[in-house]
Amino acid sequence: MLRRRDFLARAAATGIADAISGPARAAVRAGMARTVLGPLPASKLGYTLPHEHIADGPYFLNKWRKGGRAAFTAEAVEKLKQVRAAGIDTIVDLTTYDVGRDIRFLEEVSRKSGLHMIAATGQRFFPPRYPDVTMPSRTVEGLAAFFVKEIEQGIDGTGVKAGVIKIGVVAGRPTGLEETGLRAAARASKATGLPIRIHTDAARRAGESDAVILEEEGMDPSRVSFDHSDGNGDIAYFLGLARRGYRLGMDHVHRGLAANAEPSFERRAQNIKQLVDAGFAGKVFLSQDAEFGGSLLAEEAKDFRSKLDPQEGLLFTARTLIPRLRQIGVPDTEIRTMTVGNPRAFFAVS
Ligand SMILES: [Zn+2]
Repeated sequence: MLRRRDFLARAAATGIADAISGPARAAVRAGMARTVLGPLPASKLGYTLPHEHIADGPYFLNKWRKGGRAAFTAEAVEKLKQVRAAGIDTIVDLTTYDVGRDIRFLEEVSRKSGLHMIAATGQRFFPPRYPDVTMPSRTVEGLAAFFVKEIEQGIDGTGVKAGVIKIGVVAGRPTGLEETGLRAAARASKATGLPIRIHTDAARRAGESDAVILEEEGMDPSRVSFDHSDGNGDIAYFLGLARRGYRLGMDHVHRGLAANAEPSFERRAQNIKQLVDAGFAGKVFLSQDAEFGGSLLAEEAKDFRSKLDPQEGLLFTARTLIPRLRQIGVPDTEIRTMTVGNPRAFFAVS
């Protein structure tokens, strides 16, 4: 039996090939989720927001207000305590290294707010916007080794480990660089048992082209969520992916509130109901892709949703979307499946 320390030494020496052979998975017990404060039985995750951005502060570093980091952290903790008081138990932060992830901040606000948090490894792929960030590698093997390192050893020299892999695919079809990321994510997922969440352009049915690459890598669809899926109004798009086993993140529903938005808020809510009615509540996630850290730091950093919906932020789903789903006939049992049961199954190491 290979001990964990021996495995880490060997993985460091020989790279991803050994990591994929199995022992990485044995290092975390199945059924446990990986939070920034350590392993947690997935049954304790509770009501989970699976796609948010808490630790995106450093991108706005030049915007620190008076009081600096300490004051910012205190304000963030106060706001997160309100989220906790509203009944949310866990937030998954999908901020990757290349969009300003601050892992120490995430660990600190989790500890002080009482919210469980899960950090992400992976790539968002915005190199031109972040010229000071050096990509670790542009090969599939090199990227996969980097992801496995953030999962098994820790992030940025801390012992805080990633609990999910996030990949950004900006357009309808992956670029070469994005395809490299998708393949690396699949290999790191298979080596570690962690799930993958993908930023997709749903209006251009990106999930379908991403799935081709993931399936070439032998990825289990139930370990993949196509996020921002509600940007497509065609129920056939969702049903096709759900029937193949994929999960769907409905986390841009607030965008439907804008004048002339397509699909509208109401259309997005109705599509969620149709998925539930078709028996797929266990494939649906509800979240709101809030840029929490950035919106606290700078007026000009407030995202589209913050302007539309300044009071709700991380509570949009709980205060606006879920009440509407209840009104149109989605039963509480199915809402619980989407907010508790599906995340519990997905974020447990497999
Ligand atoms: Zn996001």
